[in-house]
Amino acid sequence: MIPVTTLSGKNVALFGLGGSGLATARALVAGGALVTAWDDNPDSVAKATGEGIATADLRNIDWSKLALFVLSPGVPLTHPKPHWTVELARQAGVEIVGDVELFVRERRAHAPTSPFIAITGTNGKSTTTALIAHILKTSGRDTQLGGNIGTAVLTLDPPQADRFYVVECSSYQIDLAPTIDPSAGILLNLTPDHLDRHGTMQHYADVKERLVAGSKVAFVGVDDSYSQRIAERIAQAGGKVVQISCRQSLTNGLYAEGSKLLRAEQGVARILADLDGIATLRGSHNAQNAAAAVAASLAVGVAETDILKGLSSFPGLKHRMQPVGRRGHVVFVNDSKATNADAAAPALSSYDRIYWIAGGLPKAGGITSLSAFFPRIVKAYLIGEAAAEFAATLGDTVPYEISGTLEKAVEHAAADAAKDETGPSAVMLSPACASFDQYKNFEVRGDAFVTHVAALDGVSMLIATATGG
Ligand code: ADP
Repeated sequence: MIPVTTLSGKNVALFGLGGSGLATARALVAGGALVTAWDDNPDSVAKATGEGIATADLRNIDWSKLALFVLSPGVPLTHPKPHWTVELARQAGVEIVGDVELFVRERRAHAPTSPFIAITGTNGKSTTTALIAHILKTSGRDTQLGGNIGTAVLTLDPPQADRFYVVECSSYQIDLAPTIDPSAGILLNLTPDHLDRHGTMQHYADVKERLVAGSKVAFVGVDDSYSQRIAERIAQAGGKVVQISCRQSLTNGLYAEGSKLLRAEQGVARILADLDGIATLRGSHNAQNAAAAVAASLAVGVAETDILKGLSSFPGLKHRMQPVGRRGHVVFVNDSKATNADAAAPALSSYDRIYWIAGGLPKAGGITSLSAFFPRIVKAYLIGEAAAEFAATLGDTVPYEISGTLEKAVEHAAADAAKDETGPSAVMLSPACASFDQYKNFEVRGDAFVTHVAALDGVSMLIATATGG
């Protein structure tokens, strides 16, 4: 845990006692702050009270006595409308921050030179964060991985000069971190997302810009117009920017050309790495993630040979285009995280012969936007509530069956792929749907896929499974 010493002896209020909120309350108490915490959920309040954290309805406290108000990133700061605690804090002139801000203040107070890599973007944050942490770990560094990826940042080990922090930041966390100052800040890409919570695309982009604008060195993916303008603005303001691209060659920066990653300086480019054969980093979207990870790793002093080792041994993230098993020329891929058509597109673009398991609880628009990938689909195996709708979209262009359940879909797809002598193929769960009609969440659905794959005869599992494989 990182005790928040910068607020020792000060009155602090906190709202939101979910996972990261409770961890933040504990870190504040451990550092000596006088915390009053609250949540709309009585169970969360009871849990905090049970741990000895002072709780009170924040409508009834004296806000003029507070040094700071800590808000959980899941609670609206601006849109659709500010939470009532935000209104109270503003009326009293109390600063509003989140756990990432508390972390950056602790780091500045105790170990300002400790390498701190912060990652944001619309897509690829978790992959890039995990990849950087993996590269650092395999190169022998003391590596702390946290933030939006699932480990609350204040549960990490306390800052010290030789400790590396790799922190995934959502836009909500950046919005609540006014002085975020990474040694290396990464902005991967920007496309419309979460506009319900940010109002406009411009506001969303402005929030994301703050992470890289506050960085010692900014790494910016320049393949979309919003990010490109951000890179230009930082450079114009005298900041150091390293450009990243998976679509174009650059005069200066790190870019991907097919599976190759090149580093360009003053127009002279050199191949740094080749992602060919690294199953966990297939596809141009992963080339963007890898280029950013490599650039940031170089910037914090990792040797090129260590970076290559880290890239080739990257285990990938669960449920995101994760190769989980192999049988002959067939690879089994778990992309359960693809809960809508857009999210399924990268996986479908990354394999040439696909036995596609899709369906679940359909989202508006279905799979019509994926039609460019239909020629890659040898056959589709449709499950869940979306099956009939998806079947209608596939029509006569793609052979399909309505398998109904995931178990049947895996069985049938594996049998068909085994008979296919044309070349390497993938049996892939990339459902383009939410899971809730048949599973609790996409993780449970992905785990079920892995279990069904492991149950097939003669499959070599590429990951550890519950049965110990
Ligand atoms: P995030 O943490 O930003 O949600 P993840 O790394 O978890 O991103 O990846 C989620 C999905 O987003 C992946 O399964 C893939 O479909 C897609 N994706 C990953 N990286 C990128 C990228 N750089 N550009 C576009 N899409 C991406």
